[in-house]
Amino acid sequence: MDFPPYPSGLQLAGRRVVVVGGGSVAQRRVPQLIASGADVHVVSPGVTPAIEGLVGSGEITWHARGFEDADLDGAWYVVAATDERAVNDRVSTLCEDLRIFCVRSDDATQGSAWTPAVGRHAGVTVAVLGDRDPRRSVQVRDEILEGLREGVIAAPHHRDRTPGVTLVGGGPGDPELMTVAGRKALMEADVVVADRLAPRELLGELPADVELVDVAKLPRGRSAQQEEINRVIVDRALAGKRVVRFKGGDNFVFGRGYEEVLACRDAGVPVTVVPGLTSPVAVPAIAGIPVTHRGVTHEFAVVSGHLPPGHPESLVDYGALARMRGTIVLMMGVENAPAIAAALVDGGRPADTPVAVVCDGTMPTQRTVLARLGTLAERLAEERVRPPAIIVVGEVVRIAHPEAFDG
Ligand code: SAH
Repeated sequence: MDFPPYPSGLQLAGRRVVVVGGGSVAQRRVPQLIASGADVHVVSPGVTPAIEGLVGSGEITWHARGFEDADLDGAWYVVAATDERAVNDRVSTLCEDLRIFCVRSDDATQGSAWTPAVGRHAGVTVAVLGDRDPRRSVQVRDEILEGLREGVIAAPHHRDRTPGVTLVGGGPGDPELMTVAGRKALMEADVVVADRLAPRELLGELPADVELVDVAKLPRGRSAQQEEINRVIVDRALAGKRVVRFKGGDNFVFGRGYEEVLACRDAGVPVTVVPGLTSPVAVPAIAGIPVTHRGVTHEFAVVSGHLPPGHPESLVDYGALARMRGTIVLMMGVENAPAIAAALVDGGRPADTPVAVVCDGTMPTQRTVLARLGTLAERLAEERVRPPAIIVVGEVVRIAHPEAFDG
């Protein structure tokens, strides 16, 4: 009996599916059954905390006892996933009599159905059934999904062709740290409007016919530049193109993203947002510094330091920041860091508060300069720190670098 399996896409929405067993195998199968809309019943005296969570949220039904034959009444599909062979045997034998397809997690040859390695991309489900080599199936699935994501496997008719603007956050710089949704939007774009801090390596992967607008080359001056960006994205979208506005980090964190949303709305252009990993959280993390730590800080504030304290247009209350005990993450702050550090000390933050300056996060030139609030100005000068950098102020820096601050 060495026939290959017959692949089929089961429509399980609203249909009873019985999972016998509540351990790690069941835990891996249940989420995909839920995703397909199945009416999932788990039969097991005990279940893992993850399964219990799904019971708590009402997504599945749990029968907290051993298997009984009547559990199969009305079932369309059954997964036998206990660690007792005798129980799995009983389940699969009954299924055979009742003509219900049954997966056996312990011995695939004894079941009447196999679970493929499954993945989804852009509305396509990829399911790979290996010849009793699950690792290989998983590898093949991953290769296919990666090919689809990166456009190596061209499936042009699956490309979304609806015109409009998508704001895509590219994360802190390393292309690996971009979201799957962001990458997909980028690869489906007709026009990409990219910033200096967006992960530039990805732009090299764009199909040759994509128009790339480099914001760094647009006319200077902050507001003129933003007006020009708004005009470009709106015009291209009105001309029927799919436009991606591609920025570093997250477009809504000091990225003027919402100005672009408003410009699109005013022009009647559909606009969607794909969030990105934002640098004030991601860059410290990459450098091994947590922005919060149990028992150390219950808050972190992200602050733009592009204006010095006391500047008439500044919207930052440095007195309040100085009184706050938690972490301060300063962005765009290299130039004004000396004045900001002084304002924080004046406002009551101890001058020996640990500070870490993380430069060029995720880039090959990444480095961390350590200082204290009182020595920040001289440390920045000594180390010739240039933007982009994230400045982390607070006790979390000591947690990450005890050797530098204790003793
Ligand atoms: N929208 C972006 C922030 C844009 S403001 C985000 O969500 O991350 C630009 C500032 O972000 C820089 O001045 C610097 O403070 C910070 N920044 C962005 N990427 C960085 C990186 N890779 N390394 C260090 N700082 C970075």
